[in-house]
Amino acid sequence: MTYAVKEIYLTLQGEGNHTGRAAVFMRFAGCNLWTGREQDRATAVCQFCDTDFIGIDGPGGGKFKSADALADAVAAQWPQGGGGVPYVICTGGEPLLQLDSPLIDAFHARGFEVGIETNGTLAAPDGIDWICVSPKAAAPLVQTSGNELKLVFPQKEIEAHPSRFEGLCFEHFYLQPLDVIGEPAQTAAHVASAAAYCLAHPLWRLSTQTHKMNGLP
Ligand code: SF4
Repeated sequence: MTYAVKEIYLTLQGEGNHTGRAAVFMRFAGCNLWTGREQDRATAVCQFCDTDFIGIDGPGGGKFKSADALADAVAAQWPQGGGGVPYVICTGGEPLLQLDSPLIDAFHARGFEVGIETNGTLAAPDGIDWICVSPKAAAPLVQTSGNELKLVFPQKEIEAHPSRFEGLCFEHFYLQPLDVIGEPAQTAAHVASAAAYCLAHPLWRLSTQTHKMNGLP
């Protein structure tokens, strides 16, 4: 299997349950809910994406011809001698278009915990240590269990209302205010409405994108 990777970099997880934890982000190229091209956004299933996942031209990106080659590239980003458990977050795009058992095994062989951030439209293979599902619009949800459900809020589709997910098998439920780039007033309104929802429905916790506030990638 050849893996197409947009970028690989070390940062601090900015969102959800592992906020503040050092992690190697490994961003796969491609998504099944949007092409990534602006001219296709209006007709995409997922229309609020703020991520560039096209191509393999980011820092550390490229085509990797084997699971070992990709796992070596990820491991090279982890600081040596600093303690802590090495952690890789497989994201995208949609990571489950490419993440497979040989790659999970290759990460584990190098001492890494493996996390994913997925839109939940594909089933996750066994062996992933932390599954974060972020349902998008009316896209059908296939991966209905995991560690963390992180819902961008609000979304206009009734299928993406928080109440639709409360009975699913997750340990943590997060609402993440929809960030409208260049529209701080709209973003602030979304923070307020997400906070109000969490106050009225304590199953849900507020997840803010701390990496953006702190100037991290
Ligand atoms: S599912 Fe995720 S990666 Fe794909 S278009 Fe939506 S936000 Fe972007």
